[in-house]
Amino acid sequence: MKQAESTPTLFSRLRVVLVETSRPGNIGSVARAMKTMGFGELVLVAPRFEGALEHEEAVAFASGAQDILANARIVDDIGAALEGINFAAAVSARLREFSPPVLTPRALAGQVAASPELHTALIFGNERFGLPNEIVERCNVLVNIPANPDYSSLNLAQAAQLLVYECRMAALDGQRAASQVGFHGEAASVAQIDGMYAHLEQALVAVGFLDADNPRKLMPRLKRLFARTQLETEEVNILRGIARQILARCPPRD
Ligand code: SAH
Repeated sequence: MKQAESTPTLFSRLRVVLVETSRPGNIGSVARAMKTMGFGELVLVAPRFEGALEHEEAVAFASGAQDILANARIVDDIGAALEGINFAAAVSARLREFSPPVLTPRALAGQVAASPELHTALIFGNERFGLPNEIVERCNVLVNIPANPDYSSLNLAQAAQLLVYECRMAALDGQRAASQVGFHGEAASVAQIDGMYAHLEQALVAVGFLDADNPRKLMPRLKRLFARTQLETEEVNILRGIARQILARCPPRD
């Protein structure tokens, strides 16, 4: 649990960057998409209209996410938008001849959620022109939504929604895994589990459940059952305690 609290979660390590957006409504919709998924940092690179953060249409489309819009930063170039970022993801409908490695949104989300040292920017292009090659080429990865090849260009805000949704799912999975580690005891070693099997087998023979001359598949089946449970040391000790009690009451015949 402690570890989960001290490492920055993906929610504070992810920035959305919109490059030269033309439609105010798309900017508002992206703000809304982000807030619904728990993300908050929005940077606009040279929007193609004046007063992007106060524009009536942007504000209307942001709906309850006006705080994201109000706190967004406007910068002149991509360099300024990527300050403090060490993992830049170009989100693009188009695959290019010279491009960084191509990932699906899910793969990207899994990678960045699992790497607490990464400060990630998701970079989206203009509605008509997409992202310029100069930006794509300086990114670490290209994220492509594998859409219908006959019509693969999503609306900007819908593409952003899909990306932040995947990032949220990956972040929540990561938190669940971290909290489960907090509740777990020490994982049993292979040697401890082997000892437990031997003990259990002896007890099952003594009690007459397992025929030593015709064991069939009982032990392999029990091993398969326990293998699925990720046994802890304490649980192994409980099972050995049960075996001990059985053996105390039904001493093995030699
Ligand atoms: N005609 C443009 C599409 C722009 S759509 C082009 O060919 O690039 C606006 C933005 O939405 C894109 O720059 C990209 O960031 C995102 N987008 C739309 N469809 C996408 C897809 N299938 N995969 C990844 N990003 C997509």
